[in-house]
Amino acid sequence: MSLNIFYKYSDDEKKVINYQRKVIKKRQLEIKIKEKEKQIKEIENFISEKEKELEKLGNTLKEYQNKIRELKEKAKYLREKIQELKKLQENASSPEEFKKLAREIAKLEKELLETQEDIIDLEGAYDEEKEKYQALFEEIKKIKEENEVVIKFLKDELSKLEEEYKKLEEELEKLKSEIKEKNPHYMEIFDKYKNLYGALVFSDVTDGVCEGCGMKYSSVEFMEILRKLQFGKSRCPYCGRFIYIREFEENKFEEK
Ligand SMILES: [Zn+2]
Repeated sequence: MSLNIFYKYSDDEKKVINYQRKVIKKRQLEIKIKEKEKQIKEIENFISEKEKELEKLGNTLKEYQNKIRELKEKAKYLREKIQELKKLQENASSPEEFKKLAREIAKLEKELLETQEDIIDLEGAYDEEKEKYQALFEEIKKIKEENEVVIKFLKDELSKLEEEYKKLEEELEKLKSEIKEKNPHYMEIFDKYKNLYGALVFSDVTDGVCEGCGMKYSSVEFMEILRKLQFGKSRCPYCGRFIYIREFEENKFEEK
């Protein structure tokens, strides 16, 4: 049984279906592009988080260095001061003065000892942080090397998808203006219902099944549908999509 006896599928109608296919393709491309962008962003964020961590460690190291320098200056000052007082002590004019200087010297020597202990503690802490810093530095270097190829691959893929997307947009513009010129009604239907039907406004029912909602028509129902079929008017009784049947020889649309 040939369905074509009921209905002739025109070139104008094919153009609308082709337009619809390209719109669907465009939506799929949008999703793919977003996925790729997300993948790239995830890797880049991961690396930049590590780099922030490294910068923080670097700042801690600088703080330690400053503190150590300050303490060393303090120790130097204390040593000089002690030397000075010892000279004064040698020339002390009275036993009282000698004792007074001895007390001052003892006090400064205690302070010097504490300062030297602080320096040793800080240098230990500095070495620990420096090890962490170097380990993280190496880790980041390795992550970057490992991901360099991945990022390049993803970026290449992304630019291919973007190119395809741009080409598709141009094709859609061209098709749209062609359809609008001859059959503005088809374009109006598509624009009005595209969001409701997920861009599948025109549903292929050639096999007795609605492409949009998946409903299988009974033979009687299908014959009735075919008998009355008018492109851009007839709708699926179940989902309301505008239905059409393609020509038999044309099983597949060119996938562009
Ligand atoms: Zn349907």
